[in-house]
Amino acid sequence: MQAPQIAQRLSPFGTTIFTEMTALANRHGAVNLSQGFPDDGGPARAHEAAARAMREGHNQYAPMPGVAALRRAISAWSAPGLGFEADPDTEITVTSGATEAIAATLIGLVNPGDEVVLFEPYFDSYRAAVAMAGATPRFVTLRPDESGTRFGFDPGELRAAFNGRTRMVLVNTPHNPTGMVFTEDELRLVAALCVEHDVIALSDEVYETLAFREERPHRSIGALPGMRERTVTISSIGKSFSLTGWKIGWAVACPALTAGVRSAHQFLTFAVAHPFQHAAAELLTEGRDDADAIAAQHDAMRRLLVPALAELGFGVYDPEGTYFVMADHRAVSERLGLTGDGSADVVLCRWLTEHAGVATIPPSVFYEHGHEGAPFLRFAFCKREATIREAIARLRKALG
Ligand code: PMP
Repeated sequence: MQAPQIAQRLSPFGTTIFTEMTALANRHGAVNLSQGFPDDGGPARAHEAAARAMREGHNQYAPMPGVAALRRAISAWSAPGLGFEADPDTEITVTSGATEAIAATLIGLVNPGDEVVLFEPYFDSYRAAVAMAGATPRFVTLRPDESGTRFGFDPGELRAAFNGRTRMVLVNTPHNPTGMVFTEDELRLVAALCVEHDVIALSDEVYETLAFREERPHRSIGALPGMRERTVTISSIGKSFSLTGWKIGWAVACPALTAGVRSAHQFLTFAVAHPFQHAAAELLTEGRDDADAIAAQHDAMRRLLVPALAELGFGVYDPEGTYFVMADHRAVSERLGLTGDGSADVVLCRWLTEHAGVATIPPSVFYEHGHEGAPFLRFAFCKREATIREAIARLRKALG
């Protein structure tokens, strides 16, 4: 076979562990708690609305910035969290999922040679989007904090990552894969550094409806003083409405920053799936109950899976949000006598897929410094109850 021909800027990300893990999971008929998409197909209201939009003839190119009704709906949907109503004409862009919004924000607003601050572990598209923009990443590592119950960051490490070349910082809350929801104090520190160094914040809030604790509600950095003019707030309907396959996302930003986002969006995709935009407008306007029901379902699965993992000897960081849980596997791996080639998380992931029939993700792939992630496994619990129960039964049999 001819060797893959990948441009230099993307060659470091050419192949991922996901391909190997998916193939392994299929070969062993494993219960799939690896990939972050729900078993269920989204609300019936969504299917009906999309079919209706197609029948009504919304089947040709949508407007470049997005369907007006959807931009109005996004403005209303995001207003309570942001503390202002974004102007649908000049401050909102509809994108092909949050993934395109992230890429368009970096490509449209960051120059080659600029620095971008990333928290690791990170959603894997961040690192590639920084590379596509020709920028240089600086990393701040999220680690279990002194409470031992959640992940956090060292304020000194964050401060040291900012300098005169910093153009952007990427914040993701609720955070994949650690499950942490940034506290108000944590966001205030990031915001203060943005103001001090004249830096833009890209705030990825795709799990905005999935914050499980009353004492740790989801907060938007764009709502903090001085941040409206320097924040691009990104979200999508993928997680909130269990419709990851629709790829309807958006970026909310002041007109000056929206100009940059749109400059890239118009040449990346130009416009996004037209009928789904009409259906998404309906969901954001009338579907709050659907989103609440989906969040309650994920929370119930969290309450099922987390104690079961703890019982099996994992050191579990009970997530404050998202539908992922990070579990320290070192006691389990030690008990199994697992050593071998590669990171400890990859070794255990392979073992669990082959011997327990449960597929997970080795989080070292979400780190620049892979050893920081090697003590953990990431389990996704955005699955039906029967799937979670089957996974728990298989893990008990193999590890109990
Ligand atoms: N950001 C984060 C943190 C994610 O976990 C994901 C999906 N796994 C995305 C963005 C991508 O969102 P979308 O499917 O809307 O492109």
